Formats: sequence, C-alpha cells, structure tokens
Amino acid sequence: MSLNQSRDVFKQVFIDHWAEFLEMNPGYQAEYYDTVIKKMLGCGDPENGFISYRCLQCGEVKRVPFSCKSGFCLSCAKIYTDEWVDYLSEALFTRMRYRHVVLTVPEQFRKWFYHNPLLLSEFMKTGHAFFQDVVSYWLKKPVDVGSAVVFQTAGRSGSFNPHLHILWTSGGMTRDGRWKEFGFVDFDLLHIKWQYHLLKMLRENVKSKEMEEKIDRCWREYPNGLVAYIEKGDVPRGGKGLARYLAKYVVSPSISLKRIIKYDGKGVRYWYNDHTTARRVEEEVDALTFIGRMVQHVLPKGFQRIRYYGLHATCRASRIREELKDLLNDTQKSVAGTYRVTGYRNRIKKSFGIDPLLCPKCGDEMEFEGIWHPEYGWIVNNWDSFFTEEIPVYDDG
Ligand SMILES: [Zn+2]
Ligand SMILES: [Zn+2]
Repeated sequence: MSLNQSRDVFKQVFIDHWAEFLEMNPGYQAEYYDTVIKKMLGCGDPENGFISYRCLQCGEVKRVPFSCKSGFCLSCAKIYTDEWVDYLSEALFTRMRYRHVVLTVPEQFRKWFYHNPLLLSEFMKTGHAFFQDVVSYWLKKPVDVGSAVVFQTAGRSGSFNPHLHILWTSGGMTRDGRWKEFGFVDFDLLHIKWQYHLLKMLRENVKSKEMEEKIDRCWREYPNGLVAYIEKGDVPRGGKGLARYLAKYVVSPSISLKRIIKYDGKGVRYWYNDHTTARRVEEEVDALTFIGRMVQHVLPKGFQRIRYYGLHATCRASRIREELKDLLNDTQKSVAGTYRVTGYRNRIKKSFGIDPLLCPKCGDEMEFEGIWHPEYGWIVNNWDSFFTEEIPVYDDG
C-alpha cells in the first residue's frame, strides 16, 4: 500500500467502526473524542472550508481544503511534526549541551495515568524536580537547571506506556551566577532517586489503599530503583538539530505505525519499527482493537505536551539566554540558525516540495482570492495573519 492509500485506509477504519467502538467503550463517549475523530475524518474535505486561488493569466481556480493540523491525522502528521520542531527549537538555548533522559513508569502504575490530566501534569513536574535534585547532589551545591519535558504515551507498538523524554541542560547556574557542568552521571543514584520522586508523587496524588500497597511492593521488589536512562550517542547542541533529533522519539502514535498493510473491513494489518531491536514488526488486530490503540493516545483536552521548567521556564528563559551567552564557552561551531516557517505556502513547500500557488495550467503565479468557511461563508481577509496565528502543535486535540 502506498502512503496515500495507507492514509485513506486509516480513515476508512474509523468511518466503518468508530460508532461501534463508542458503543462498546462508554469511556470515550465524550464530545471531545468525537470532535477529534470527526476533525480527522473531515480533514482535506472542501466542505469543511477551503482557500481559493485564481490565476489572473488563464482564469484557473484552485481550492485548497483546510487541514485539521492534528498529530492524530496521518495526512497532517508531517506538518504537525514540523511545527513541533519549530516550537521546541526556539525554546532551546543555542550552544547549550543537553542530555536526553527517558523516565518510565512501571506497568503496575500506568492505569492511573490514563486520561488523568492532573496526574500527567504532576508527572511532568516531577521529571524536573528529580533532575534538580540529582544535579545538586552531584555538584554538592544547589544549582538551577533547565529542562524541556515532553510527555509521550505511546510505546512503538501502540501500547499505552506513559513516559517522559527530557532535555536536561548539562549543568546549572550556581547561586552566585556561575555556570557549572556535571561531567559524569551516576546511574545507581539516578534509578533510586527516580523511584523516590515518582512514588512520592503517586502517594501524594492518588489516595487509595491499592496505591499504598503497590507503592510498598514496588520498594520491596525494586531495591535498585526504577528505569531512568540517558540515551547514548551524540545529542546535537541546542537548536533546530536537537529538536529534530527529539522529534524522532516522540512522534505521534499514528506515524509510529508506519504503514497499514491490509484492511478487509474487519482486521487491520500494520507494521512498525520496534524501538529496542530496530526491526520491522508486523501485527494484525481487529478494527476495534486498532481504534482503541490509536485513541488511547489522544491527550486530554488542551493538554500541553511540551513544558519548560527551571532555567527554561517561560518567564525566565529570555533573561537566562542573555546571561548564558557570556557563560557558555564558545568552543563549538554554533548550529545552523533556526528559522520559522510562516504561512501555509512555505509549510507546503517545505513538507511536500511543491509550490501550491503556481497555476497547474499555465504555471503562472496564482493570486489569493478568499477563504470559504462552512459557518461564515466567504471571508476575504488579511490572509497572512490568518495563517501565521499560533497553531497549538503541542496539543493533540
Ligand atoms: Zn489532517
Ligand atoms: Zn494559469
């Protein structure tokens, strides 16, 4: 199946079975989920709105339908990822060295994270608090560190595996305004401390007998702590390259299953790359299971998937950026400048390599004519401001 066919089939599975899935899974009977799916299904359909161009040479008219811009949608996933990379790369400190850290949750605790925005937020916060704690311990003095935390729910096969990918600054700011790097990583300490911070967070936020028991058992069963690891290999310095590097790990679940191989109206066969073995794995499940595997990754409404803490906290980042200019030694060549893709035209050009504004008949440049919206009809607007508005790329809704 070609990529385009695969996209159509992905939609078809939802067209055929979404209603049935809702009936069998009352937990998803909320308007929010329905909206996410309907948006994905209506993506690219001119009935849901389009932009119109006209060629002043030959009169040819071209209508470009709105896209849903959701990471859930296979057609939009590429653009979604590009936006994501732009957003993250702008926040990172140029020339800073980062560590890429992955923090996991043991299987027995995962169910509590399921569609629980409060716990998810606490989880992300804990990722940073843990970092602050270990670095201050290693450096034997309190330092201020910065982290960009990305929340991810998907294991490669589509399973529900909430975990964090964090970019840690490779050092911190001391109280007297100096920069101190930590050169080594003590993994034993890392595991034990992660266990401590995660279980403490769970104890404080989930008050139940079952949780108490699971926490106690976890301390007994894992005396050496929980899995927290640092990716080996070169991590690019702060900037676009680094954001692109991280995007590979945190792509949306619908892209991580690479291709649908077969769909006969009942069963779906697809393949994905296994994270640990880097091998291609094929799997076949019935359509309802397939839908379940996909929608379990839809994040709670408005949920921010990337968050910044410490030196990276939004209110401090620009001041810190200035201070770091003097503090970070400039021994490495700086990474290629970041640039921002603005507007629909550049985005299409960049993602698909075609210029959407050239007339398919005579090749002349086409003129923007207007926007048609299903509710408001024809809108002729300042189209630049229309398309450069912030798109919530970090939110799966
Ligand atoms: Zn879409
Ligand atoms: Zn023309």
